[in-house]
Amino acid sequence: MESNRSDKILQLMEQTGALLKGHFLLTSGLHSEFYMQCALLLRFPEHASYAGGLISDRVRVLDPDIIAAPAIGGLIIGHEVARSLGLPFIFCERESGKMVLRRFPVPEGKRVIVVEDVITTGGSVREVGELLQEKGCEWVGSACIVDRSGGNHVLPVQPVSLCKVDFPLYDPSECPLCDKGLELVKPGSRKFK
Ligand SMILES: [Zn+2]
Repeated sequence: MESNRSDKILQLMEQTGALLKGHFLLTSGLHSEFYMQCALLLRFPEHASYAGGLISDRVRVLDPDIIAAPAIGGLIIGHEVARSLGLPFIFCERESGKMVLRRFPVPEGKRVIVVEDVITTGGSVREVGELLQEKGCEWVGSACIVDRSGGNHVLPVQPVSLCKVDFPLYDPSECPLCDKGLELVKPGSRKFK
C-alpha cells in the first residue's frame, strides 16, 4: 500500500516534469542524474490536492489543531493538507534571514503539524516548529511530499513523507555521467512541458 502510493507520487512527479532524469548541474556545482522541482507537480491543483489528501490520511492520528508551513515551499501542500483535514493553515516566512510568524495571531496552546514540500535537512521545518513551540504551541509532527534527507535531518522526530529518494551527487571530476559523455543540463535553462 505504502509503496503503491509512493510509486504514484513519483510517477506524477515524472509526468509533470517535477522529477527529471538525465545529467544535471546543480547550484552547488555538483552533478546529478536526477533533478527535482516539486513546484512543477504542485502547479496542478488536482495533484496538489491528491498529495495533500495522502499526507492528511497519515497525520490525522496526531490530532492536529492547525497546519503550519515555511514559505515558500510548504505553502501549497500545507494548504492542501489543512483543507483535507478541515483545519486552519498558517505560514512562517523569512525576514532578514530569520523565520517569523508575521501575518497571523499566535495559535497558542494548539497542536501544530509543520508541512513542507521537500525535506532535505529539515532546517526550515525545524525553525517553524521551534518558533511556534516558543510561542506556546505543541509541535506534534512534521510531514512532506518528498524526504530526501536519507535520515540525516535535524528534526526531533522522523517526518511523515509520501516518498523517500536518495540521489547520489557527483563531483564533476569523478562524475560517471560525464564519463559517459552525456550532455550536462542546467535546470531551469530548458523548457518544461
Ligand atoms: Zn557530470
